[in-house]
Amino acid sequence: MEKSKKIMKSIIPHLEDPVVKNAVKVKARVIAYATEFLREQGFIELLPTIVSPLTDPLNHEVFNVRFNYYGTVYQLTQSMIFHKQLAVTAFERIFIVSPNIRLETEEKKDSGRHLFEFTQIDLEMKGAKREDVMDLIERLLLYVISGVKQKCREELECLGSSVKIPTMPFKKVRYLDALQTYGKDFEKILSEKSTEPFWLIDIPIEGREFYDKLSVDGRTLLDMDLILPQGYGEVLSGGEREHEYEQILKRMEYKGTSLEDFKWYLQIAEDERLVPSAGCGFGVERLTRYICSLPHVSLTRLFPKVPGMDWI
Ligand code: AMP
Ligand code: MG
Repeated sequence: MEKSKKIMKSIIPHLEDPVVKNAVKVKARVIAYATEFLREQGFIELLPTIVSPLTDPLNHEVFNVRFNYYGTVYQLTQSMIFHKQLAVTAFERIFIVSPNIRLETEEKKDSGRHLFEFTQIDLEMKGAKREDVMDLIERLLLYVISGVKQKCREELECLGSSVKIPTMPFKKVRYLDALQTYGKDFEKILSEKSTEPFWLIDIPIEGREFYDKLSVDGRTLLDMDLILPQGYGEVLSGGEREHEYEQILKRMEYKGTSLEDFKWYLQIAEDERLVPSAGCGFGVERLTRYICSLPHVSLTRLFPKVPGMDWI
């Protein structure tokens, strides 16, 4: 009883906040334009997988959500990476508007960028290279931002949005070069300095999970992040994928990943059922936050889940 009173008190002003209402309207358009673009490009929309014995192990600390159902341990989806890899064996191009649960630690509550329930538009292309994904996303962003600027002029004006239509092609910055020039806070520094989105490419092997493909240099990955300007930071991660059993095994051993946890996936890889692919996922709330020039992603959802807080 005590608890539900506390929740009702904090959620009602949020529901009535004109900033939230405008941002939610813009977010609906962001999703509509992004998915329309992907459909036009031949992508098939899949519905999200919410629970599975298999989900992204992630490369940072989150609390685990697991439950036992008739002897199988299920997890809530942290990303659909493995399902995407399997899905491209059935369809060449797929996307999912995918809700993800990541129980992020409490200190992320003021980052402006973290929720513990958020949505990615997650996509994968059979036989594609990293460059194909970057080209697709640049065109998608142009389409989404131009469309939203036209359709949501009033909402963006009320929000005081300063978003510009980005200039293509986006700049590519190598991770290790940026680290050497700007030190460990390079991403923040570069994002704050920048006036255009840019790609951060060639992330070192220790910075990512085993499914991003290793480059021939043996140290960096054929992957990328998209960094938004004006301090809004990362909005997308993606890359080419490992699909060969021996290589996946090596990469899991390097990371200390439990082979038992991934036995289904490993069996599929050993049976040579995985195919070369590349893809990415971008956060709907982070993209909307940028387009609306908002201080926090929580303003883009009616029922936001901010790390460490107990909203409805
Ligand atoms: P990842 O592959 O882990 O980088 O996740 C893909 C994208 O999802 C990120 O680039 C973000 O845009 C978004 N994302 C990841 N974690 C969160 C979070 N905790 N809250 C909001 N958005 C997130
Ligand atoms: Mg990322």
